[in-house]
Amino acid sequence: MDKNIFPVDMHDRLKSMPEFMGFAVPIHRASTIKFNTVEEFINRRDRLFDGFSYGLYGTPIIRYMEQEIAKIEGGEYCLATPSGLSAVNLPMLALLKSGDHIIIAQNAYGTTREFCKNFLSRIGVRHTLIPADATSIQQSLEPATRLVILESPGSYTMEIQDMQRIAYEAHQHGALISVDNAWGLGLTQLFKFGIDIVCNALSKYASGHSDVCMGSVTVNDRALYERLKTTSFMLGEGVSSDSASLVLRGLQTLEVRLSEHAKRALVIADWLDKQPMVERVICPFRPGDRQHGLFSQYFRGGNGLLSVILKKATDSRVIEMVEGFKMFKIGASWGGTHSLVAPVRGNTFSWLDMRERESWLLRLHIGLESFEALQHDLEEGFATLCAQKIPEPGIAPR
Ligand SMILES: *Cc1c(COP(=O)(O)O)cnc(C)c1O
Repeated sequence: MDKNIFPVDMHDRLKSMPEFMGFAVPIHRASTIKFNTVEEFINRRDRLFDGFSYGLYGTPIIRYMEQEIAKIEGGEYCLATPSGLSAVNLPMLALLKSGDHIIIAQNAYGTTREFCKNFLSRIGVRHTLIPADATSIQQSLEPATRLVILESPGSYTMEIQDMQRIAYEAHQHGALISVDNAWGLGLTQLFKFGIDIVCNALSKYASGHSDVCMGSVTVNDRALYERLKTTSFMLGEGVSSDSASLVLRGLQTLEVRLSEHAKRALVIADWLDKQPMVERVICPFRPGDRQHGLFSQYFRGGNGLLSVILKKATDSRVIEMVEGFKMFKIGASWGGTHSLVAPVRGNTFSWLDMRERESWLLRLHIGLESFEALQHDLEEGFATLCAQKIPEPGIAPR
């Protein structure tokens, strides 16, 4: 028996096989990458941007996926990161130094705001929060302002900033502008509006099945790309080829999933709007929403995410309602096929008006389960909230 069970001649043997024409991009798993010469090994850093030097810094399937994301975002260069959070934070780590100042939208991803408050402040970078629905940053610009970070529609409360105008103001000032486009993947191309850096959470609709954590940073400028890539290299950040494969699979159905999620979300938003216990439905792609006008300037469609602010009710009643849902599971990180509810106390959002802060906000992700079951779940939930007696099945047919 051949004791040599290691595939030392793998590359030669694969090359000698007939062409294999499957539909999936082959998965390349690697830490080590082999070099043919001493010189190639010594100069392997030269391959950081365009070649392959170590599994952590890219494999063919990861580069392939990055190119697909760049196409969707409408940019030139994409860099995969381990999470959406790391994608949003990477530009700050790459571009800022002690003494710098940044501007960030109040409704940006919570952990990113925490990063500014508890991490950047320690290294001497100050930040200013701007209103969730800011249309200008003129008042907040300082001589030291280097970077502006927006998120539209923002997390939970989904306000939209006037990104194009703010990008113009940032550029006049010599600052760069980065947008967390987690909500808008596949629904907008933000470079058209002057955005320099577009970050995304591929954990959401890109992968689409709640089984991957990944993020992306896309830019048009080669020097900016190299700076981001060098920073992620120094931080030891990378993604797995298996995860890239799952993202590529998800992307194939992104368009049809988004439109089906959105179709359902609109019907549910209309229904929620008629419920007596609902203070406000937040669904920017729905005509009539407070920010639908601004939304339509930037986005061409919706998805399955919406928020609902409840009228004042006792905590126990709201908790009973949320825990009683059968279809809507309690959880974060939307974008999969399952329906989710994320309950948050209104007073978490200091920018909402007094009345809205008194109650609860439920962020719903409308999944792809039986639509009738989802509707029934919400009907029962709101009946609980109103403390009406729910008819027993079989006694009073619905
Ligand atoms: C989910 C999300 C993130 C974080 O993405 P992860 O991959 O879960 O780290 C960042 N920003 C926004 C707006 C998000 O919705």
